[in-house]
Amino acid sequence: ERDLSAPLTVHARVAPLGSKLVLAMLEDRTRERRVEAVRRDFVANVSHELKTPVGAIKLLAETIEDASDDPEAVRRFAGRLRVESDRLTDLVHQVIELSRLQDTDPSEAQDVVGIDEVVRIAVDTSALASTAKQISVVVRGDTGLFVRGNPQLISAAVSNLVSNAVHYSEPHSTVVVQTRGQGQTVEIAVVDQGIGIPADEIDRIFERFYRVDPARHRSTGGNGLGLSIVKHVAATHGGDVKVWSVEGQGSTFTLTLPSTSPTDIPSDIPSDIP
Ligand code: ADP
Repeated sequence: ERDLSAPLTVHARVAPLGSKLVLAMLEDRTRERRVEAVRRDFVANVSHELKTPVGAIKLLAETIEDASDDPEAVRRFAGRLRVESDRLTDLVHQVIELSRLQDTDPSEAQDVVGIDEVVRIAVDTSALASTAKQISVVVRGDTGLFVRGNPQLISAAVSNLVSNAVHYSEPHSTVVVQTRGQGQTVEIAVVDQGIGIPADEIDRIFERFYRVDPARHRSTGGNGLGLSIVKHVAATHGGDVKVWSVEGQGSTFTLTLPSTSPTDIPSDIPSDIP
């Protein structure tokens, strides 16, 4: 990112008020253009990603029409049609989540959010997948932790981490969700014993639509948006997300958020909120 602070100092020394204003406007314009570029990029990415499942659905529907006198084939293709439409539904949900996130003003996201509840929702969300693979999801660590922010977005972030851990793990393994209150921060670590991430890919996994070698887990059908959502949630809430991983052994994703206390009510919010 370009450092805009340098010219600001130089000009401010010459004519403090006028040039500061002009530079502030320029800075604003640059930011606007950058936001616009990110948006255009996003729309292009989304359009591209939507084409695959939509194309598959159309093809499968046509195949079913042609196979109407073969009930077994119809059943088989209908099953695949359902898988593709589920994939499309996931993608649309995540795109909506991400665009909602981009429009969220962090200063507006000021609910007190209980981490116990967030973790419970995340475990529930992945229950179907973890049960199917007989993966046990263990929750341990500190309870009664709170952060301030948007409950839906924080839940979405933690749910994405837990779902990924289950997704990229072998059957019968264990996923641990470890919560910890550390001074002014809350840490939520999701530890798996799954396939891990190659060292040379690890820097890219938080990019939108980035997937590590899609061929190695084609059948799992993700879309590469989950971690970019986690990263945005962390950033807009003044937190951070880190990953540690060894290929073939497992991964740990740690989401860190500034902690709050449930009684710590900002002055502009009525005090009848628990
Ligand atoms: P998706 O899971 O939909 O592909 P994500 O943005 O959630 O997209 O993740 C990006 C990529 O990072 C995944 O495609 C996968 O290769 C890798 N990844 C994410 N979480 C894990 C994990 N717990 N273990 C191994 N690889 C992971």
